[in-house]
Order: sequence, then structure tokens, then C-alpha cells
Amino acid sequence: MSEFVDCAQCGADDFETVYRHPSGGVAHGACRRCGLGYLSPRPDAAATTRLYDGYRQAYPDAFLAATDGPFGRAAAARAAFLDRWLRPGARILEVGCGYGHFLHAARAAGYRVEGLEPSQHQVQFARERLGLTSVERGLLDDVARDGRQDLVAMFHVIEHLRDPQAALQLLAQAVRPGGLVWLELPNALRLPCDAIEHHYIVAGHHLHTFTPRVLAAMAARAGFETLYLAEDPLPAVYEANLRFVGRRVAAAATPPPRRPAETLRSLTAHHRRLAALGARVSGKVQRWRAVGRRIALYGAGFHTRGLVDLCAFGAHEIDCILDDDRTKHGTELAGFPVCAPDSLHERRIDAVLVSSLAAETAIVDRLRAQAPRGCVVNGIYGAEPRRPSAAARGPRLEVR
Ligand SMILES: [Zn+2]
Repeated sequence: MSEFVDCAQCGADDFETVYRHPSGGVAHGACRRCGLGYLSPRPDAAATTRLYDGYRQAYPDAFLAATDGPFGRAAAARAAFLDRWLRPGARILEVGCGYGHFLHAARAAGYRVEGLEPSQHQVQFARERLGLTSVERGLLDDVARDGRQDLVAMFHVIEHLRDPQAALQLLAQAVRPGGLVWLELPNALRLPCDAIEHHYIVAGHHLHTFTPRVLAAMAARAGFETLYLAEDPLPAVYEANLRFVGRRVAAAATPPPRRPAETLRSLTAHHRRLAALGARVSGKVQRWRAVGRRIALYGAGFHTRGLVDLCAFGAHEIDCILDDDRTKHGTELAGFPVCAPDSLHERRIDAVLVSSLAAETAIVDRLRAQAPRGCVVNGIYGAEPRRPSAAARGPRLEVR
């Protein structure tokens, strides 16, 4: 079921819809008063719980545990960033700590760490594989409001929460006076960078969308003054990564002026781009079908879930989904069977569309080398630029 909601930041019932999902259950837009982006209607609490049942990507344990893999490298970069704010021995709590990579790196750098994570699978990995015995199952309701922490971190969590303003107020009670909150989240001004994955997560998972300005305003209302606000990419994990550090102050911090039009402009551009991309991909599939081709998508992950939803692909268009990850073979994704790439011959596939953001070119080249004669392999993005250049990113975001 879906529910309509008022703005979680300013309480106004003044929502401008930018995009409606064809199901009617979800619409994306922003508050005309304060510029907070959100979904309304959105999945209710029970529907959200069901969505998360299918959320986990099946990463092999060896990949997760590797300190030189993308998660390990991101954790090391985050632990290094801590040094400019805290001294070793300081207390850190991470809310939604996932597999525990950041806490593992922070502990190695000498910090005292605790973590809360709702997924039992991830808690077990953190405790057993990384030896993080201070990681417990839980989330915001389980945060001790005792003002003991020197820093509370929350990475790619706040956009999933039903009431982010209340969450920040709660975190303010967990840190000592002068203590810090460190948030990372998608930047609403950069959503086009991974439009299709965002389509999947925006259609239910990301209940809120923040520009840097809106984030700073919400943190100020919770009693945090902005110390740091910039886009800091996490290579191979998340490029358009918005990073915020705020300090708990006694008096209410001053929020930046509101610019709701900035959010609405950005969301409108994002959804336009997405619609154009969806139309282009649907057109290609229709042309292939018109000449009798049997079509597979490559990539059994979030990106393909988003693509199938965006283009409303059915069994009369797509035969199956290919993926090299053996643990996925024999499963289903978005209603399609997941098969090994060497089943191209057996299933008489003669057209493959590669659905991947990060590795499109490499996957296209590899499949072309192994595909049967006459089988076409194309990427979704082709030559289209999809990463912000360093120059476009800029060093620092001005919100005042
Ligand atoms: Zn508002």
C-alpha cells in the first residue's frame, strides 16, 4: 500500500510532483516551501519492509572481506578522512554499518568503534569475519541518547528513512556537546550520473532526496553547524557521493536560505533524461523484436531491475538475464530467469543488451568475443557520457 505524506523538514503540505510511476504507487517531487525532495505517495511501512527483503546484492564473502576491493578501499579512504576531525581513542558510532568495513578500518586506526545494522546477515559478517564484536543488530531506535559519542556516522542511510529530520535530532542526542555527525548520501544535483539504478531505488527505496543546501538546513534544525560539505567520490562504489560533517552546537545553528526551485529543476532534468534513455532502449528492443531477434539482458543487479521497470519489459520482449556470477544462476530477477553467458547458444539468443553502469565497455567486448556468429551485443549507454568530470564537480559546494 502507498501513503501520502507532508514535508518531513518544514511540515508543509505543498508538494510539487515531478514524476509519477506508472503503478501509481509512487511519485517523486519536492516541497515548494523548503526544497526537500521526497516521494509522495510512497510505499507504507509494511511495503517498505517487503522491498528490503529483496534488497541485498549477493556479494561473495571473499569479495567483501578483501581490503583491496572497492569496499575495503572506500573504508580506508573514510578512515583517513577521520584524522582531520578526531584523535585516535575517540568514540565512533556508525548507524547502518552494513558489513562493517568502515568500522574495521577506523578501529585499525585506533578509534573505539560501535555499530548498528538492521540486516542479520551483515551483522554476522561484521562480527565473525571482521571481528567487530561491538556491532549489534538495530537502527535508530537502538541508538543510546546519552551524549557519549565523539562522532556518529551514517553513510547512505538518511535517504532511506521515513523521517530524516527526526533522525538527525536523535543523533544530536547521541553525540557529546561539540561532537560530530558525518553523513554521506546521493547528491540531488547529481542524480543523472546513474539514472537507471536511481530509477529503481527512487521507485521505493529513496524516500528523500537532498541537495547540499537542504541537507545543511535540516542538520542546522537538528543543532548541527556545517563544518564540511562537498562531493567526495568513492571510486567504484559511489561517484556522486555528497559528504557532510556537522558539529553539535548549543544554540540553534543558522540554516542557509531556502531555494526550492533548485531541487525542482534538478529533479525535472533527471526525470527527463531518464525518460529519454528509457525511450531509446525500448526503441532498440522493439526494432530487434520486429526482425525476430531473441533478446537477453546482461547483468542481474539493481541496474537491470531499474531498466526492466523503466521500460516495462515483459516475457514477449526479453528471454532471460545473463550474468557471470554463478550464485545467481537458476534464480529469477524481475520475473526473468538468470542464466550463464554460455547459454547464449542453447537459448538461441541473437541480441544482448548490456545493463551495467560501471563496466559496460568491458562486458560488451567480452560478450562479443564469445557470442555466436550473428549475435549482436550492445551497451545501453554507448558513448554517452555518464560520469561528472572533475572540473564539473568543483572542489566545494557553496550553500550560504
Ligand atoms: Zn518543506
